[in-house]
Amino acid sequence: VKHYLQQIETHKNLNVFLEVYADEALKQAETVDQKIKDGTAGRLAGMVIGLKDVLAYENHGLQASSKILNGFQSQFTATAVERILAEDAIIIGRQNCDEFAMGSSNENSAFGPTLNFADPTRVPGGSSGASAVAVQADMCLASLGSDTGGSVRQPAAFCGVVGLKPTYSRVSRWGLIAYASSFDCIGPITKTVEDAALLLEIIAGADEHDSTVSHTSVPAYSENLAPKKQYRLAYMREALESEGLDEDVRKNTAVKIEQLRAAGHIVEAVDYPLMKYLLPTYYILTTAEASSNLSRFDGVRYGHRAAGVKNLEQLYKKSRAEGFGAEVRRRIIIGTFVLSADYYDAYYTKAQRVRRLIKESTDEILSKYDFLISPTTPTPAIKIGEKSDDQLQMFLMDIFTVQANVIGNPCISIPNGENSEGLPIGIQILGKNFDEAEMLAFAKSLE
Ligand code: GLN
Repeated sequence: VKHYLQQIETHKNLNVFLEVYADEALKQAETVDQKIKDGTAGRLAGMVIGLKDVLAYENHGLQASSKILNGFQSQFTATAVERILAEDAIIIGRQNCDEFAMGSSNENSAFGPTLNFADPTRVPGGSSGASAVAVQADMCLASLGSDTGGSVRQPAAFCGVVGLKPTYSRVSRWGLIAYASSFDCIGPITKTVEDAALLLEIIAGADEHDSTVSHTSVPAYSENLAPKKQYRLAYMREALESEGLDEDVRKNTAVKIEQLRAAGHIVEAVDYPLMKYLLPTYYILTTAEASSNLSRFDGVRYGHRAAGVKNLEQLYKKSRAEGFGAEVRRRIIIGTFVLSADYYDAYYTKAQRVRRLIKESTDEILSKYDFLISPTTPTPAIKIGEKSDDQLQMFLMDIFTVQANVIGNPCISIPNGENSEGLPIGIQILGKNFDEAEMLAFAKSLE
C-alpha cells in the first residue's frame, strides 16, 4: 500500500485519483496482514485495487466525475466491490473517468482530463481512462471499471494493459451508476490475464440485488488457463481494410495474425457488411437508455441543487444545466429525441432491430469460429484536445469495441506491441457468450 501511495504521489500530474483512501488502505493492509499470519486470508489478500468513480462504496464519495453529484456519498456498496472486499482486497481510492462514463478520452470529466503515462501529451482513452493509467503507472495492482461500449478495453489498449468486458449479465450491476443498462458491464483492468481471470471469478455470479444477472455457474477461470492447441479465429475484412486504420495498428495486427497461423491456429477473414451499422446502433440505443437513466438527477434527490430558483421547473432546469457537462447534455438531448413520439419508430425501434441483426450475424460467425479478433482501437492514443471538437471522429474511436456490447458477448483487450513512438497498441478477442474461460485461456497464451 505504501508503494502504491508513493506512486500516486509521484504521478499526481496525471490526474488519476479523485480521492485516495490512504489511512483506510493502510489500516486494511494491517488487518489483511494479520489474516495472512492467521491463515484466514481471502483469495485477493493484499491485492490493491482502485475503483472507477461509478462504483458505489458505502460511506465514500461517488459522483461519476460529474458536478451534479457533488458531495454525494454512497449508502451501500456495489456487489462487485463487496465481493472483492470479502476476499481481502484493499481499496486505495476512486478514479477519474468521463462524466457518467460517456466518452472515449477521459476528457469529459468535471475534474479535468487524465493523462497517459506513456506520453502525458496524450489521452489515456475512456471512459475508464484513469483506471487504466492507475494500472499502467503502478498506482494499484488492478482497477474495476465499467464497459458500455469499450470503456474498459479501449483505455486498456491505449495504456498497454489488460481490459476485460465479461458477458452481459455475468457480473451484477448493483451499485454501478447506470449509463445504458442493457449494455453496461463491470470489468477488471489488470497487468495480466491471470489477474483478470481471478477478479472475474470473484465478482461474477448470481446476486439477489440484480434481477438481470445470470445464474449460470461461475467457473474457476484463473485455475483453467491452459489453452487448446488449435483455435479457429476469424477477423473481419472490413476492420483491417478500413480507411481510418492507423498503419502501425494495421501492421501489428497483421503480424499477430501471421504469428497465430505459424503457431498452428486457423485464422480466416470473414465479411462483415453490417460493420457500418455498429456505431449508429450503439449511439441511438445508448443515448436513449442514458436519457432515461439520467432523469433521476433532478436537483431534488441527489447532489447538486441550483440556488435562486422560483419554481420546480426552474429547479430542474437550472440544476441539470449547471450539473451536467456538455457531452452528457448532448447525449440526453439525442436520447430524448430518438425516444420522442414522432421519431421513436424511425430511430429507436429500427436500431433495436438492427441490434438483433448484428447479434445474429456475429453469432453466425462464432458458430464456425472460436473467436473474432480485431485491433481494439483504430489508432494508438490521440493527443489531448485532438478530437474534442469533432464528435464523429471521437465516436469512431469505438468502432471495434461497441460490437461486443451491442451483442452482449465477452471480449478482452491485451497489449499487442507499440508503435515507433512507444505508444501501446491493443488487440481484442471476442468470444461466445459465457465462454470467458476459453477466451481467457487463449488470451493468456498470447501474453
Ligand atoms: N466511448 C463510448 C461512449 O462514449 C463507450 C463508453 C463506455 O463504454 N462507457 O459511449
